[in-house]
Amino acid sequence: MTEAEFFEQVLGIKEIRVDRVDWQEQSLHIYCGSIFEEALCPHCLNKRHVVHQTYERQFRDLPITGKEVYLHLSQRQFYCPDCDRHFNERFSFVDLKRTMTRRYERYVYECCKASTIQKISAQENLVWHTVNEICQRGARQEIDERPLSKVRVVGMDEFAIKKGHRDYATVIVDL
Ligand SMILES: [Zn+2]
Repeated sequence: MTEAEFFEQVLGIKEIRVDRVDWQEQSLHIYCGSIFEEALCPHCLNKRHVVHQTYERQFRDLPITGKEVYLHLSQRQFYCPDCDRHFNERFSFVDLKRTMTRRYERYVYECCKASTIQKISAQENLVWHTVNEICQRGARQEIDERPLSKVRVVGMDEFAIKKGHRDYATVIVDL
């Protein structure tokens, strides 16, 4: 098994192949690309194979042996002659315009639930507002996924944020 094949197995992302890996002291940089020949046009849903241009996108992914992991994806932009439009190839493991894989965002969110945004931003070497955004988005998603029709009793209370301060937060709980 080559190093690239090994990392394909470690990552477990079926849509990408690994080209090369660059080890650094604190981080691991994995260069990868799509395994597909063609991509689906999101406008007409036809398969297209004419690549207009390729550029590199970088995402943070789950840590490996304590190192920060960065995926460097060769992102392809296709051309659809029927729609006369360009479109980016999409993947299930990352959303367009995001700089982190879905599973890494989930991981950061779960870490935040058991800690503070400040601690997790230091632990993950991420800026505070990025962690805060992930936290807000994760919480919204979790609330959206919860079947509200099953809630029977709601509890509501005010919690002081810090002793001696005048800040209170209203907490609504599904009892
Ligand atoms: Zn099209």
